Amino acid sequence: EIRTRIAPSPTGMMHLGTARTAIYCWAYARHFVGGKFLLRIEDTDQERSTQEAVDVIINGMKWLELDYDEGPVYQMDRLGRYKEVVDMMLEKGLAYKCYATKEELEALREEQMAKKIKPRYDGRWRPENCVGKPIPEGVTPVIRFRNPDTGTVSWDDMVYGHIAFENTELDDLVIMRGDGIPTYNFAVVVDDIDMKVSHVVRGADHINNTPRQINLYKALGAEVPEFAHLPLINGPDNRKLSKRNGDASVMDYEKKGYLPEALVNYLARLGWGHGNDEKFTKAQLAEWFDLRHCSKSPACLDPKKLNHLNHLYIAEADNDRLARLVRPRIEARGGVIDGHADLARVMEITKQRPETLEALADNCMIFYRPLQRDEALVREVLANDQSLAAVKLFLERARAVEDWTAENIYGVLKSIMDEMGIKMPVVAVPIRVLVFGEKVSPMFDKTLELFGKDTVIANIESGLK
Ligand code: GLU
Repeated sequence: EIRTRIAPSPTGMMHLGTARTAIYCWAYARHFVGGKFLLRIEDTDQERSTQEAVDVIINGMKWLELDYDEGPVYQMDRLGRYKEVVDMMLEKGLAYKCYATKEELEALREEQMAKKIKPRYDGRWRPENCVGKPIPEGVTPVIRFRNPDTGTVSWDDMVYGHIAFENTELDDLVIMRGDGIPTYNFAVVVDDIDMKVSHVVRGADHINNTPRQINLYKALGAEVPEFAHLPLINGPDNRKLSKRNGDASVMDYEKKGYLPEALVNYLARLGWGHGNDEKFTKAQLAEWFDLRHCSKSPACLDPKKLNHLNHLYIAEADNDRLARLVRPRIEARGGVIDGHADLARVMEITKQRPETLEALADNCMIFYRPLQRDEALVREVLANDQSLAAVKLFLERARAVEDWTAENIYGVLKSIMDEMGIKMPVVAVPIRVLVFGEKVSPMFDKTLELFGKDTVIANIESGLK
C-alpha cells in the first residue's frame, strides 16, 4: 500500500520547496489505487513553531488543492507515544541516558577539532563505558540511541540512486532531550512507522539524516520505507531562493496573482517532466508521475515560464471565478465595482493577455475608476479633422442605437469606416480616449458595450466640448 506524507515544520512561511514535495507526494499517492497522502505538522521546535505558521501550511494546502487523506497529525500531541518508544528502547538497551553536560561536550568538540578529527560524541555514557561512574547531580540526562559501530548503512534512493554511509561516520544520536521532547530524527521515524508511510519524500538537505533514521528503523524492528530525496529549488540567479523577494513563500504567489493550478503545474514541471508537456492537469500529473523520473540536479526558478503558464490558465479560467479573485484587487486599487460594468463579463474580454491577476486587475480599472482623461491627449487625438468628424458621426449614430450590443456598436463603427474610407484607429482611438482615457483597450465594441450607452455618450459629449 502506497502511503506518502508531507511533514513541514511550522516555523514561518510555507516554502516553495515544501509545496513541490507535497505535490509530488500527492501525485505519487494518487497514482496508485488506494494510495494515501498524509499531513503531519512537525511542531516539536517549541520556540520557533507558531499557530500562525500552522495555519499558513493548512491554508496553503487548501489553496493548492492538495487534498490529504489523514491528518493533520501534530507531533506535540504524540509526546506520550515517543516516551513509550524511548522507554522500550532503554529497557532493551537500544538507547541509554547520557549525563554529559554542555560544557563537557563543548570541551570534547574542541579537543577533537584540535586533533583534526570530525567532532563526534564519544559514547562516554554508554553503559559499558561508565561502570562505577557516579551519576552527576543536577544534570537532566538526554536519551541517546546506540548507533551500530561497524558496517555500512545504505539505501537505493528513488531519485539519487545508491547512497551509503559508514556507521563510523555516525555517532550516538540524541533521540530525546531532557525536557521529554523528541528530536527530529527520532520523532520522524516513530511517526513514519506508526503512520505506515511507505515512501518518504523530502528535500535533499535531509540526505545526511537518512542513515541515522534507517538505523533507528532497524533497531525498532520496523520495515525501512523507500526514500526519495529531491534537489533544492534555486532562484532565477541560481542561488538560494530569496525570502525577501517573496520568491520562496507559497502564499506570496497568491498575493502576486498566480492561480494555484498554474503554480502546481509549474512546480511539478520543475524537476520532473513528461516529455515536452508543459501544461497538464492535476489528473494527468497523477497519471504520469513517478518519483523515479525526478531529476537530481537542482532546479532553477524561471519566472518567465511560470508567468506564461499562469497566463494560459487565466485565459481559460471561468469568468465568475476570476471575477471573485479579481474583485478585491480592483477594490484595493480604489475601484468601485457595483453599479458599473459586470465584472464577469469584463473578465471575458480582459483575461486573454495578462500574466497575473494583478495585471488583470490593472487592465480592468478603466471600468471601475472615475474617468481620468488627460486633456492634452484629448486635443491630440482630435487634432486630425478626419478623427473629429468620425467621432461626431459616431456620437450621432450611437445615440440612435436602441439595442446597445457589441454587434450594433461594431455596425456603427464599420459604417463610418466604410463611408469615410478610414482605418479603424482613426475613429476608435479618439473614442477610447474620450470614453475612458486610454488609447488602447480590449475589443473596442465589447468594451463600449460594457460601459453602457449612457456613459459612452456622456463621455464623448463632454470630451468634445
Ligand atoms: N520537518 C522536516 C522538514 O520540514 C521534515 C523532513 C521529512 O520529511 O522527514 O524539513
